[in-house]
Amino acid sequence: MWCIVRIQEIEVIHVKVLLKKAYKLSKVLGTIKYAEPIIIRIHTDKGIIGIGETDLLAPFTEETPETVKSVLENYLGPRIIGMNPMNIVRIHKEMDKIVKGNYLAKAAVDLACYDILGKAVSLPVYYLLGGLLREEIPLAWSLGADTPENNAREALEYKARGIKTLMIKVGSLSLEEDIERVKVVRKAVGKDVHLIVDANQGWDIAEVIQFGKAVSKYNIDFIEQPVPYWDIEGLSKIRRSISIPISADESLFTIHEARTLIKKSAVDVFSIKVVKHGGIYKAKQIIELANAFNIKCWMNSMIEEGITQAASLHLGVSTLNILESMGHAYFSPLRLKEDITDYSEQIQPQMAVKAF
Ligand SMILES: [Mg+2]
Repeated sequence: MWCIVRIQEIEVIHVKVLLKKAYKLSKVLGTIKYAEPIIIRIHTDKGIIGIGETDLLAPFTEETPETVKSVLENYLGPRIIGMNPMNIVRIHKEMDKIVKGNYLAKAAVDLACYDILGKAVSLPVYYLLGGLLREEIPLAWSLGADTPENNAREALEYKARGIKTLMIKVGSLSLEEDIERVKVVRKAVGKDVHLIVDANQGWDIAEVIQFGKAVSKYNIDFIEQPVPYWDIEGLSKIRRSISIPISADESLFTIHEARTLIKKSAVDVFSIKVVKHGGIYKAKQIIELANAFNIKCWMNSMIEEGITQAASLHLGVSTLNILESMGHAYFSPLRLKEDITDYSEQIQPQMAVKAF
């Protein structure tokens, strides 16, 4: 029998975890050596504890671990003490009243509230999101900027482990080097592996068009965020100029940005990261809006620990319009020296992640 619970206390914990190997992204994002998730525990009067996480990466995110900790401790936390965490829409309404934006801080609370809801009714959260559409999702793997030979070696290593989707990070080296990397990786892995390219805002419009034309024969599923996040007209222009589909990541945090991307016919794919949208509730709204306009979603991740990855997985297994034949970004804890949860145990030997 369920009962009403009330939030009593929120603990905020700043964690720093080293990556196994430095991860070279684009000119804009540089090289990452460690992740700094903020973990929260929401304590309730009935003894249920909800666990949340959020994952910052400046300047991908405006927020930093320090701002998130401060916003949670001084604004969001005090505002929701005493509230019923199962009233998730009301929790969001209160959070939006006290601070604008700060989606990643709000996401930590959203994830913890869904965790409480699931624990209170003894159900996996995916049932509360509409239920299971698939019991497992194949993983993708991501190749940081490196030499073509090193990228090809890593691609083959992960292909041998069962990976069928590879994301190649571009936009930090020269255009010629990036074109060569795509060519060499495609040649190494053969035709039956999906290739995605992510420039993390590292190019201008002319560079993307030149790149798109040069790699058109290598069967790229989509190019993610080739130009700066604010350049929606640029994304539209690129989409009209090349045959490779385009995805928005840094340009897509809010449902209002989703609406603009749709109105401007700017992209084919939405890159979904549960924490950048403000948590499960708001990510689900964006996914449903995308579905109404026949836009597919790629389940992506920041550098995440198992709490965020699990939340994203609950969303992924209950979402109609994910790119069904592809691997998705549920591999993030494999990059970290430590997984502070048991999420990694859900990853199967054939590199798919199980929903339960
Ligand atoms: Mg991206």
